[in-house]
Amino acid sequence: MSESDWVSRFADEVIAEARRRDPDRPIVCASGLSPSGPIHLGNLREVMTPHLVADEIRRRGHDCVHLLSWDDFDRFRKVPAGIDPSWAEHIGKPLTSVPAPAGSEHPNWAEHFKAPMAAALAELGVEYRPVSQTQMYTSGAYTRQVLRAMSERERIDAVLRRYRTKEGVDDDGSVAAGYYPYRPYCSQCERDLTTVTGYDDETTELVYECGCGHSETVVLAEHRQGKLAWKVDWPMRWAYEGVVFEPSGVDHTSPGSSFVVGGQIIGPVFGGEPPIGPMYAFVGISGMAKMSSSRGGVPTPADALSIMEAPLLRWLYARRRPNQAFTIAFDLQIQRLYDEWDALSAKVDTSTATAADAAAHGRATRTARGALPTTARPVPYRTLASIVDVTAGDEDQALRIVRDLDPSRPIGSLDETRPRLDRARAWVLTQLPAEQRTRVRDEPDTGLLASLGDDERESLRLLAAGLDENWSLPGLTTLVYGVPKRLLGLPEDVKPTPELRAAQRAFFALLYHLLVGRDTGPRLPTLLLAIGADQVRKLIGT
Ligand SMILES: [Zn+2]
Repeated sequence: MSESDWVSRFADEVIAEARRRDPDRPIVCASGLSPSGPIHLGNLREVMTPHLVADEIRRRGHDCVHLLSWDDFDRFRKVPAGIDPSWAEHIGKPLTSVPAPAGSEHPNWAEHFKAPMAAALAELGVEYRPVSQTQMYTSGAYTRQVLRAMSERERIDAVLRRYRTKEGVDDDGSVAAGYYPYRPYCSQCERDLTTVTGYDDETTELVYECGCGHSETVVLAEHRQGKLAWKVDWPMRWAYEGVVFEPSGVDHTSPGSSFVVGGQIIGPVFGGEPPIGPMYAFVGISGMAKMSSSRGGVPTPADALSIMEAPLLRWLYARRRPNQAFTIAFDLQIQRLYDEWDALSAKVDTSTATAADAAAHGRATRTARGALPTTARPVPYRTLASIVDVTAGDEDQALRIVRDLDPSRPIGSLDETRPRLDRARAWVLTQLPAEQRTRVRDEPDTGLLASLGDDERESLRLLAAGLDENWSLPGLTTLVYGVPKRLLGLPEDVKPTPELRAAQRAFFALLYHLLVGRDTGPRLPTLLLAIGADQVRKLIGT
């Protein structure tokens, strides 16, 4: 079997590289996330890219670890929108030392924002080993590497100097008084407003001053409250964990960026080689309604999973190479996306999909561990959305409609259409603008009915007469397209002409006006099923 998708090609490359480095070690792929606030849906690519590659490596029978590094020992930089401004007093503390937002069940800021992401990753079938940087630093796991970085500070400084701006400052700290790659958190105020003013390589005594006025001498070999500067920290972790694959966002891969600098620091300072690190492109979000965002207007993976099934979201990542940008649709485009997905699934079922498409489908629907939950009866998303829309979420009515969709294979319970039904329902309730919601008329539009001409009355009579015997999705489709043909005296299997098309458009517009009081609405067969035959007959005056 030859799979030519990008995941397979990276897996080949990573396995070969891992063998070259050390064939006896498990293969390590890595991601990093900062729980500094709600984790943006755009950042999911940081995890999905290595996940898909690690999963392919596991499918091939190799031992592979996907590390997810939680950058929870980073400083709290700013108070996000929607949080009590008094949290500003915590700026400069490690994220794990900042209290969680009011009302949270979690012990600190970092855990509060990790939890929903971890839940989303579990739903997505992403298997990983979480690594808390707070836990690593405060347990002393990195002490040897920290001492090493300090003793090699001139060498590190020389690398950083190549990229520093004229002002003599790079974004990892000041250099005027000598460069130190380690910054302590103050033992008095817990913040990182500290400046290292001296270091003794022999005793590892480090002197720092804090903006709060505190100053102190600590023994670095025993110090646990501090961390390496990011551009040193990252290559240190590559070496410590033996990372072979870690992609990064486009902002990390420009000249002088952390990936480039880290690649020059790792060998001479920590020993080892940088990972294979493709750049991944931006993931956009289209049409996210503000109200559905879980917090602070930031769309999160949980928001996406509330309106689409996990395999569909996985598919968006699997089918695009990491360097291709794409958009996750929260607007009407989600219906087209689901149509594409259903069409692909049908091709896969009949073995007519291309190898690359089939591979992407396989990566979306299962992992090395097993299949992800799917919907037993995948009714088209747009149909489910229309049903939810028209029934305003009434489940008894919804069940009656889905039963009628295909009388030859009736759906016995709404559960057969879940979880897709629940996603479509969430989409209608949170994303469909109020002005696009459908309101079925309670009473006929008598004024409009009285103004109709003979042909229009006849078309409504033909429709009413055919409802009962055509009461299914395909039956009603044939009926609504067929009524204008019969009025024009054309056979049922006629090729559409401009005249027929115009007649059909006019007929549909008339029906929408009579049924929902607008020019358009959900597809008519779905709408008719949703409204029910008796109410349809009442509203069209027959
Ligand atoms: Zn202080």
